[in-house]
Amino acid sequence: MQSNDHANKLYIDGQWVNADSGATFDVFNPANGEKIGEAADGSGSDAARAIEAAQKAFGQWAGLTAHQRSEYLYEAYQKMTANREHLARLMTEEQGKPLKASRGEVQYGADFLLWYAEEAKRVYGKTIPAPRSDQRFMVLRQPVGVVAAITPWNYPVSMVTRKVAPALAAGCTIVLKPAEATPLCAVEVFKILHEAGIPAGVANLVTALNPAPVGEVFVQNPLVRKLTFTGSTEVGKILAEGAARQVKRISLELGGHAPFIVFEDSDPVHAAKGAALIKFLNTGQTCISPNRIFVHRSIMAPFIREFKSRVSRMLTGSGFEDGVSIGPLVDNAALQKVQQQVSDALDQGAALVCGGRRLTEDNLDRGHFYAPTVLSDVTPQMLIFREETFGPVAPIIAFDSEEEVLALANDTNYGLAAYIYTNNLSRAMRMFEALNFGIIGINDINPTSAAAPFGGMQESGLGREGGREGIEEYLETKLGGFSI
Ligand code: NAD
Repeated sequence: MQSNDHANKLYIDGQWVNADSGATFDVFNPANGEKIGEAADGSGSDAARAIEAAQKAFGQWAGLTAHQRSEYLYEAYQKMTANREHLARLMTEEQGKPLKASRGEVQYGADFLLWYAEEAKRVYGKTIPAPRSDQRFMVLRQPVGVVAAITPWNYPVSMVTRKVAPALAAGCTIVLKPAEATPLCAVEVFKILHEAGIPAGVANLVTALNPAPVGEVFVQNPLVRKLTFTGSTEVGKILAEGAARQVKRISLELGGHAPFIVFEDSDPVHAAKGAALIKFLNTGQTCISPNRIFVHRSIMAPFIREFKSRVSRMLTGSGFEDGVSIGPLVDNAALQKVQQQVSDALDQGAALVCGGRRLTEDNLDRGHFYAPTVLSDVTPQMLIFREETFGPVAPIIAFDSEEEVLALANDTNYGLAAYIYTNNLSRAMRMFEALNFGIIGINDINPTSAAAPFGGMQESGLGREGGREGIEEYLETKLGGFSI
């Protein structure tokens, strides 16, 4: 596979085509600001073309057997796995994460193709005992129709397959708009779908520098029956309002503000290791990133000692360099948000344990690098306690009792992920049941898999991706009542 073939084209109706305007936009490496390629600058008219192609292909795709659709997804899985290294290198160049993490993400992305190749064959209906002896009830599950999808830049391959694979498995066709920072990874994924032989119009890609006109067509075009979005809560709300006008089905995977709770009965060294690994994953640009680390006052000192020692040893730089575990932030706005949250916390009395500055030495000023940072003595009045950080800053808050920390943890409009460290089984169960979050890691920092339902409560979203639940989002339920 050639890396830059078709990179500046849209993929509509099985063809690589120019945007209607003929325009393209530049794509940059966030580690050094260098241009790495171009993508087609699609707009509303391109989105409309793609939706029509998806509508035209829908009947035939939905009419295939589940086994036939499954074969295509298996083929795409195999092709993605075979191209893992190529895709991972492109991801590190375009998104910035360390190469090892990119390889892991490509595998995670491929896992969705495999999982839904299998789930396609398990879309069962049911029969229901009817109240009359001459009556029969039968329930069918059918694909919802054309799906419009919007994905973010932080996981530029797996967020695409997490939507495309279950949609296609269910018998839907799809039009996807990836984030403007990472269109090239999406182009590579669609090349794989094309090479897997997926029929024309079934999967369509519209890249765009300005997302709003494409988003408007997605919500306004009546052919779109389902909108699935991963990104910020702010944009999710705009799209949900628009989709409501036609009562379109929606799935939203939005922002998070995860609490990470370390109880006095846990090993503070083990917990600090877990917190350092998950907090700084993808430079903190992860929706399930801990955003408030609550540590019981009695073990604060050993926790901070271990946490600081681990964090201050983390290497920041280009994801292609050996040993680097912290890449760049996506852009200047992300850097400014981090700086603002850190200075607000320091102004209000937080203590700087390590980091706390932009990194500019050794050419790092060419990218958006921020030192991995730990703040202690953080309080609920600070911005960082309320706002998603999406950067490499770990705020630590002391607590004294289980009731107090539960109330603090649940004191947010978000509800995506939460983590607890405890060796007390009853407490683990109590917290698992009482935390208002969709994903709870219990002595576990990686509660994610293609096989498991991922998603948030409250303003973190609607619906689930992955697992059995992920395909349900693309299915309608139809009841048949038969008099016999
Ligand atoms: P964002 O909302 O700015 O962008 C996400 C996507 O929406 C991009 O494709 C963007 O082009 C598009 N978009 C932006 N404005 C739009 C508009 N008006 N109409 C249509 N589309 C529009 O978010 P971001 O900063 O790129 O991504 C980070 C956010 O995503 C964080 O809040 C993070 O928590 C969230 N996220 C959530 C999950 C999850 O599964 N819950 C996963 C990854 C990221």
